[in-house]
Amino acid sequence: MTAPTHARALVLESPRHLVEQSFELPEIGADDGLLRVEACGLCGTDHEQYTGQLHPGRPFVPGHETVGIIEALGERAAARWGVQRGDRVAVQVFQACRACDACRRGDARHCKRNGLATMYGFQGTEVPPSLWGGYATHHYLGPDSMLLPVPEGLDPVLATAFNPLGAGIQWGVSLPGTTVGDRVAVLGPGIRGLSVCAAAKDAGADFVMVTGAGSRDHPRLEAAARFGADLVVDVTEEDPVAAFRRATGSGGASIVVDVTANAPAAFAQGVALTRGGGTFVVAGTRSQPTPDFHADHIVYKELRILGALGVDTDAYRAALDLLASHRFPFAELSRQEAALDEVEPLLQAMAGEGETPPVHGVVRPILS
Ligand SMILES: [Zn+2]
Ligand SMILES: [Zn+2]
Repeated sequence: MTAPTHARALVLESPRHLVEQSFELPEIGADDGLLRVEACGLCGTDHEQYTGQLHPGRPFVPGHETVGIIEALGERAAARWGVQRGDRVAVQVFQACRACDACRRGDARHCKRNGLATMYGFQGTEVPPSLWGGYATHHYLGPDSMLLPVPEGLDPVLATAFNPLGAGIQWGVSLPGTTVGDRVAVLGPGIRGLSVCAAAKDAGADFVMVTGAGSRDHPRLEAAARFGADLVVDVTEEDPVAAFRRATGSGGASIVVDVTANAPAAFAQGVALTRGGGTFVVAGTRSQPTPDFHADHIVYKELRILGALGVDTDAYRAALDLLASHRFPFAELSRQEAALDEVEPLLQAMAGEGETPPVHGVVRPILS
């Protein structure tokens, strides 16, 4: 078998126009590399890009939760990244120059040379060599890439959960300081919510409640129970504040984490669930104002409210270790693996159009 000369990739030319294209594989020099993509996880960002809520206005190869094998690697890149040809790695969405003030602070999201412009799964195909995302057989690794070694024996499809679980660890544990004895409420039962639940339980939380909204969430709430949730509540059937108080005999949660999507009522619910002096981590977005909310509750309860968006390298590493430990049943999540020509209907389902989506959607160019 001769080595391929071209990559196959899905290009999102404009909202809802996802087409397969062929790109010549780039020559790899001393400072860069090439990844053979094994799997790329999908999240809310993917279907928002597809439907146009988050489209950058130029064609690009989506996919930012990528795991694969390093197929070509320059000498200096190997030293900088600490990897070798043939290694299985996960690719962080942001790139970092490792030299500017932001990078030195460990804040790659604000890297002077990179920032949002060079995010993987977002940069346009007009920038050579076009292969900047995971919906492809091959993914270019620029000199500023940040790679995470995947622990020995961890399946690549499972490893793509490094992204949501990294967020779960950062937003559910390191940011609010979750520890033994905490009573936690998690709003939203998607893979991020399940990840927050697992991370909080792993950190020693005494009690975790996970909420969802409506019958489409019921399979996810059942999964939450298998991830250690002590209580699951459908907020369209039951008042989560009353349910939490009844189950714990307490005045509220010491830590509340909101990872909902398009749920305008969740913010007020989160504030109501947080006990006096507690911490409320807001990581969900609602793309509209929050109704029936009185900010005075924040004052009277002396709440600590923390916005959360990014995830650090340490949290991603901890996520890969936790996945490799198999302490939580990520392997048994409802999951759909899609070849390149099956990605579009999966994104539509995840956007809430048509069929009930799996909890975890994964692109597998290898099946194509
Ligand atoms: Zn994502
Ligand atoms: Zn930098």
